[in-house]
Amino acid sequence: MDSSSFRKSTQSVWAGEDLDDYAGATTTPVFRSVTYAYPDLDGWHEVATGKKPGHIYSRNTNPTVHALEEKIRILEGAEAATAFSTGMAAISNTLFALLAPGKRVVSIKDSYGGTSRIFIEFLPHYGVKVQLCETTDHDQLESEIAKGCDLLYLETPTNPTLKVIDIARLAAAAKKVGAIVVVDNTFATPVNQLPLTLGADLVVHSATKFLCGHSDAMGGLLCGKEELVQKVFRFREINGASLQADPAYLIARGMKTLELRVERHNASALKIAHFLKAHPKVEDVFYPGLASHKGHDIAARQMKGFGGMMSFSLKGNYDTVRKFLPALKLTHLAASLGSVSTLAGPPRTTSHVELTEAQRAALGIPESLIRYSVGIENVEDLMADLENALRKI
Ligand SMILES: *Cc1c(COP(=O)(O)O)cnc(C)c1O
Repeated sequence: MDSSSFRKSTQSVWAGEDLDDYAGATTTPVFRSVTYAYPDLDGWHEVATGKKPGHIYSRNTNPTVHALEEKIRILEGAEAATAFSTGMAAISNTLFALLAPGKRVVSIKDSYGGTSRIFIEFLPHYGVKVQLCETTDHDQLESEIAKGCDLLYLETPTNPTLKVIDIARLAAAAKKVGAIVVVDNTFATPVNQLPLTLGADLVVHSATKFLCGHSDAMGGLLCGKEELVQKVFRFREINGASLQADPAYLIARGMKTLELRVERHNASALKIAHFLKAHPKVEDVFYPGLASHKGHDIAARQMKGFGGMMSFSLKGNYDTVRKFLPALKLTHLAASLGSVSTLAGPPRTTSHVELTEAQRAALGIPESLIRYSVGIENVEDLMADLENALRKI
């Protein structure tokens, strides 16, 4: 069934669930099979040469993984999709498959820590030129794109201060010079933001986060233009960063409730952001849903909801954070984000642990900053928990 004409919650339940062959199963089973048998040699050859659909070996394709790929393809409105073992596998495979020595990438300083490492440490080693710009300096980004750019890589909103980038404006600049536009849509999810409709060619996800939503499986997804996805798929087939059927099943199951969860994340985060903003012990709140946030206007234009991620700084220093965080009862002090349960941590220990205090300050990350991934718990309970912990500092 083609689910593309349905709305998001219908798509996430039905897309990819081609169940005709599965003994009446109402959900795509976990295909724990490495290989697929063909009693007929000619039929086997046709599948192996791509003339007929089918599966040969699970490093290449797997029915459970395919169901997941179809879900993200339909949800993002893409031509094609392919899955990876982790979000970083999706990002690194995309960059290494589409770039070559002498090519030039333009991106932002605030992309996800692992992505930044690829830009700073690995790509230059292979002769790829990388220009990282001030994240919200659209003029600088446009002028660097105009100087010559083969691939524009964006992420919005960013980690940890939720900076917002105008995808449509920069994609238009990239189109003028023939650059491929890739957007990491992990924070927003296709419920809140559809980069392909704003001019992006490819969307990448850490499916480990909101798509899976339960912090119990890792995966990465890439979707977008058929020709580009195929190129990355060819690379992934060979280097082997494939997703296994078990995590694919868990991610696909999580995605069935994506819209329900994201709507709750959006509503709770907005309420908590207002609550924290008004609190005398809180210095600043970074959430694109607040009118005071620098990226609010762009976010209001290009996002349907503002997401479940926020950060806030306390009046005080790191010692204040040290007292505050362990006083939270309804929060795992842990890395990662996008789970049903609330997660929090200081960028000083998590995403930006490798930087010095001065480098963090240069990125606008105060030592008293806390990244807070709002879960789907009752929002009154979360606010009471925050109030109680704030009282202890
Ligand atoms: C977590 C994350 C990644 C990396 O994903 P993994 O599944 O951990 O490899 C990439 N981008 C963003 C925005 C992330 O939050």
